[in-house]
Amino acid sequence: MHNVEPKIYLISKSIPKNENIFDWLSDLKLSDEALDKYAPTIDQSRVDTLGEEKASFNNTSGEVVVELAGRRCYMSFEPGLNKNVTKIREDIKGYIDNILKSGHGSVLEHVYFTFAIENVSRVFTGEMNRHRAGMAISEGSMRYIRFDDIPFWMPNSLIDTDEDIKEMENLEFNIQNREGKINACTSIKKMKSQELFRKAFLQAEENYKELCEIWKNELSETSTFKMKKHLTSMMRRIIPMGVATGGIWTGNIRALRHICEMRCSEAAEEEILLVANQILEIMMTEEPTLFGDFGKDEKGFYQPKHHKV
Ligand SMILES: Cc1cc2nc3c(=O)[nH]c(=O)nc-3n(C[C@H](O)[C@H](O)[C@H](O)COP(=O)(O)OP(=O)(O)OC[C@H]3O[C@@H](n4cnc5c(N)ncnc54)[C@H](O)[C@@H]3O)c2cc1C
Repeated sequence: MHNVEPKIYLISKSIPKNENIFDWLSDLKLSDEALDKYAPTIDQSRVDTLGEEKASFNNTSGEVVVELAGRRCYMSFEPGLNKNVTKIREDIKGYIDNILKSGHGSVLEHVYFTFAIENVSRVFTGEMNRHRAGMAISEGSMRYIRFDDIPFWMPNSLIDTDEDIKEMENLEFNIQNREGKINACTSIKKMKSQELFRKAFLQAEENYKELCEIWKNELSETSTFKMKKHLTSMMRRIIPMGVATGGIWTGNIRALRHICEMRCSEAAEEEILLVANQILEIMMTEEPTLFGDFGKDEKGFYQPKHHKV
C-alpha cells in the first residue's frame, strides 16, 4: 500500500500539415495572398535557423484546422472565392470566437488531444468514461494486471485546510469536556479518516496477497496465461474502488470543452475536478483561442463563456 498523486501527461495532439494544406488550398484556387495567410510558405531564413522540417511546420496549433474546416463550409477563405461572400472575419481569433458564440461546434471535432492519466482511482475512471461522444479510452486492465501492493490517492478533502489548523489552535484546552471538543475538531476527524483509509487498503492488500497464496500454483510462471487472467479477474473484486490505476484518454476539442465545463464546476466530484482543472489548464496553454473563453467564477471554479458548443 502506498500513496500516489494523480498525474496528467499530454502525450499527443493533432498538428496541421502545412505543406499539404498549401496544396489543397492551391487546388481550391485561393489567391497568393490568402495562401500565404492560411499556409505560409517555407521561409528560407527560418530554414537556415531551424532546419527544413521545423520551418515547414511553423503552424502547430489545432485552431488552424478548426478555422480551415469552418471556412471550407462556405468557401469563406477570402471575399469573392464564393460569389455570395463579400466580406470575411479576417483574424482567426474573431473567427473562432464567432464559432463558439454561435454554437457551431462540429468543426471543433477535427482536432484531437491525447492524455495519459496516471494514479487515478476507479471512482475517477467510472465518471470520466461516461463521456462517450468524441472520446477514445484505453484503461489499465485489472483483469490482466496483478497487484503487488495497492496504491491509492488520499482525497484532498481529508487534508487539513488553514481553517482546520486554526480551529485546532483556537481550542481551549482547559475547559471541561476537552475530549469531546477535540474529537469534534475537523482536523481530528480527518486524521482518523486517513487512518481508516490506510487500514482499509492495508487489509485489502493482505487479503489480496492471501488469495495469491491460495492460488500460487495456478498463478505461477508455468501456469497458462488464460488461468492467470481468470484468477486475476476474480481477485480484483476485493480491491477498493479507490485503487490507483491509469490509462489514455483522447478527446476532440468539442468533447474536451464539454468535459471541462461539467467536471471543473462546483458540482464535480473532487478527484475528477482536480484532473479536469489540470487538463483545462493544459488546453488553455495549448489552444488559447479555442479555450480562451474559460475563466474562474467568483468561487474559483472554471466555467466557459460559451456553453456546450
Ligand atoms: C455532477 C455530476 C453528477 C452526476 N451524477 C450521476 C449519477 O448520479 N448517476 C449517473 O448515472 N450519472 C451521473 N453523472 C453522469 C452524467 O449523467 C453523464 O452521463 C456524464 O456526465 C456524461 O456526460 P454526457 O451525457 O453529456 O455525455 P457525453 O458523452 O460527454 O456527450 C456529450 C454530449 O453529446 C450528446 N450526446 C452524447 N451521447 C448522446 C446520445 N446517445 N444521444 C443523444 N445525444 C448524445 C449530449 O448532448 C451530451 O451532453 C453525473 C455527472 C455530473 C457532472
